[in-house]
Amino acid sequence: MRHFSREGLGLPLSAVKPLVNHPMTVKTRFAPSPTGYLHVGGARTALFSWLYARRHGGRFVLRIEDTDLERSTPESVNAILEGMTWLGLDYDEGPFYQTQRFDRYKEVIQSLMEQGHAYHCYCSKEELEQMREEQMANKQKPRYDGRCRHRSEPREGVSPVVRFRNPEEGSVVIEDLIRGRVEIKNSELDDLIIARSDGTPTYNLTVVVDDIEMGMTHVVRGDDHLNNTPRQMNIMQAMGHTPPRYGHVPMILGDDGKRLSKRHGAVGVMQYREDGYLPEALLNYLVRLGWSHGDQEIFSLEELIELFDVVDVNSSASAFNTSKLVWLNQHYIKSATPEHLLHHLSYHLGKVGIDPTEGPDVLEVIKAYQERAKTLVEMAESMRLFYMEFDAYDADSVKKHLRPVVLAPLRALRERLAGLEEWSDAAIHAAIEGVAEAHEQKMGKVAQPLRVAVTGAGVSPPIDVTVRLLGRDKVLNRLDRALALIEQRGEE
Ligand code: GLU
Repeated sequence: MRHFSREGLGLPLSAVKPLVNHPMTVKTRFAPSPTGYLHVGGARTALFSWLYARRHGGRFVLRIEDTDLERSTPESVNAILEGMTWLGLDYDEGPFYQTQRFDRYKEVIQSLMEQGHAYHCYCSKEELEQMREEQMANKQKPRYDGRCRHRSEPREGVSPVVRFRNPEEGSVVIEDLIRGRVEIKNSELDDLIIARSDGTPTYNLTVVVDDIEMGMTHVVRGDDHLNNTPRQMNIMQAMGHTPPRYGHVPMILGDDGKRLSKRHGAVGVMQYREDGYLPEALLNYLVRLGWSHGDQEIFSLEELIELFDVVDVNSSASAFNTSKLVWLNQHYIKSATPEHLLHHLSYHLGKVGIDPTEGPDVLEVIKAYQERAKTLVEMAESMRLFYMEFDAYDADSVKKHLRPVVLAPLRALRERLAGLEEWSDAAIHAAIEGVAEAHEQKMGKVAQPLRVAVTGAGVSPPIDVTVRLLGRDKVLNRLDRALALIEQRGEE
């Protein structure tokens, strides 16, 4: 097993024992088509496959299904690779690119033809359309009726497609890991196109060749592929192979019960990074969509590897719930080490223009925000006040707290802070308390004006921590700026 680790998530993964008594080496794969971003639904499927492989000490393969040359883009390939890396779903083999395997697919198509499992079909679009209309008129399910199966003569000037000769008798039984037994009669399946007229293979052919030749034992994928599975199993059998086990994962719904799409908000994995989520929060969230272990909500990856089994995935669709994801994110922000948070936060610090060398120890500042930030975006935004001057004060806070009555206590506090021997939370706290007492005020009546003076607003970590982290120079400068503002306002 390839070595991998996740900082800040408890046990090293090497401490987790895979189930070694499996009769064969489990091999699963994630096989996205690179036609957009990595969708959260795809990421969940990838996670399930990954966990299954890890649990059984097996191997996880990444295969890029890029044979649709018109819709596949390199940007999308990158988005998928980036998403997998960000989530920490490492693969033991691949990425394999189907476009690099065209020669092999052609060989398989050729050999299926030679063995009589596939044949050329010369039907024109018009002919197929007419067939469809007649079937519809007769209230039959539209399907290719196999009329080219027995054609021996090519049609002049027509480049044929290749169709798989589906068995006519019997049925295909899928012992689905998630849905249980699904039986489909062969009479309901028609002869699938496995090569287009330009010779390029279609999805159902490439996926079959790869799942067999890459040694997949378990295929976990979205249930939008359930219709393809019996056809794929028939092709595998024609090639002389036993199909892998399948598990079809139900889709994710939006809060309105419709299939999760852009209308519901973020669906691309990297958008969650953009929005300030930790990958472990998203993974924890995704695994719980359709899988549970008692009423436990928080799972480390190590626990998931021990506990997750694809057979326990619920066979009905589950709905996305953003507030739960936020809750999990908060949990992981609170419980992570500052070092781990910094690893993910750096990106957001860069986005808000924070240079962590221009202020206090960034790990200390992170600690001050772990209890308060719901997202890393929020954390980075709040941290600005430690690294950059603020342009404007929050108007309401100024009105409420920077009034002429606080001039005297704030001036006194400035003096005390300027003379403090030890710049510590306790000493700062004592200074504030001392000034409040001397002016016969409650501590808050001094602390809150101080907070507005040094942060520009009414919310920050505890005032002694905030003042300590800002450092003496910034605090004194900002107090001077606030005092001048009060004097000026007083005169208005
Ligand atoms: N490439 C297919 C897709 O993105 C998945 C194929 C599979 O998992 O079998 O929908």
